[in-house]
Amino acid sequence: MGTGDAERTVARLRPFASTIFAEMTELAVAHNAVNLGQGFPDTDGPAQMLEVARQAIADGLNQYPPGSGMPVLREAISRDRARRYGREYDPDSQVLVTVGATEAISAALLGLVEAGDEVVLIEPYYDSYAAAVAMAGAQRRTARLVRDGDGFALDHDSLRAAITPRTRMLVLNSPHNPTGAVLSATDIETVAALAIEHDLVVLSDEVYEHLVFDGHQHHSVSMLPGMFERTIVVSSAAKTFSVTGWKTGWALGPADLIAAVRTAKQFMTFVAGGPFQPAVAYALDNEQQWIADSRKQLQANRDLLTAALRGHGLDVHRSDGTYFLCADIVAASADGLEFCRWLPQHIGVAAVPVSVFTDNPGPWKSLVRFAFCKQEHVLTEAVRRLARL
Ligand code: PMP
Ligand code: GLN
Repeated sequence: MGTGDAERTVARLRPFASTIFAEMTELAVAHNAVNLGQGFPDTDGPAQMLEVARQAIADGLNQYPPGSGMPVLREAISRDRARRYGREYDPDSQVLVTVGATEAISAALLGLVEAGDEVVLIEPYYDSYAAAVAMAGAQRRTARLVRDGDGFALDHDSLRAAITPRTRMLVLNSPHNPTGAVLSATDIETVAALAIEHDLVVLSDEVYEHLVFDGHQHHSVSMLPGMFERTIVVSSAAKTFSVTGWKTGWALGPADLIAAVRTAKQFMTFVAGGPFQPAVAYALDNEQQWIADSRKQLQANRDLLTAALRGHGLDVHRSDGTYFLCADIVAASADGLEFCRWLPQHIGVAAVPVSVFTDNPGPWKSLVRFAFCKQEHVLTEAVRRLARL
């Protein structure tokens, strides 16, 4: 988009004209760089899952599925959650299939937050949260993560300070994009206590729920006492089964919250892609071993990239989950955004600056995110190029 093209965009969306992922992927393509910017895997999900989708198309499953999602998928999502967390969500009233986690997030904000209400985000925050808050006509306030040893933790005081009498919703994301932090039980308990005290709805973005390394535990805030009633859990097949292009996600929660999400969702897209739904249902029931193998591979990728970047003198932070890690590029440049705009052309690698995910970029300026959901030879080539830094 050229300068000036945003003039006719409504004021509340003008700051969101282009995402950092689009910008960095464009630079990567233009300069033939290894793209460790936008997070998408370069290998396919489970072969049999892909086959089920192909078969669904061949079988003529090509018209509108039901608005809430096909029963076969809603039932599989419910079974999967019950198996892994011990909580039953009613497939009819408490599970909603969406066009990726992205739609679940936007629909939750549109369906549950009044214009003028406040929504608390924890920075650095995934970019679509701020845009969705703006679409809802709400105001965002931010709490923050802070550096904690070589990792990151929630600053509890900042969370307390961000909540006001106008706060309606808090958006939580663990395992966390972009830092790779997996929030501790204490952090999650603090979120729950404050949500209950201030009667907030919590939108818990758990799209990386399976991508947790070194035996770390993912804690879903929805499981804490008093939280089921006020939590919408969002997840997606994108990361779990390496199908970011399928845009098949879901929201789980009590019937009254899901009804609100559904109300908005049905006028955003009405329904999500039909043939993908039986395929994701199949995978949830049958491909848990594939998920475990993929997690193991990602952990090895993380180790490879971490060691190599450290070898090049970068200060790499610990990544306990997701498929991202963050490195301090202070030695090379003070400004991560400038650095990431320079990197594809001059070094042949794309990355993403963390500061663009914040309202207060100060402490995040020198941090850069690298995605490691790539084949080993791709990571090795990126590392070889980064040696020139
Ligand atoms: N939340 C987070 C934290 C993400 O990183 C992403 C995408 N990478 C999404 C939501 C969006 O997921 P989907 O592609 O299923 O819309
Ligand atoms: N969620 C992916 C990431 O964080 C990118 C999604 C997008 O391009 N909007 O890299």
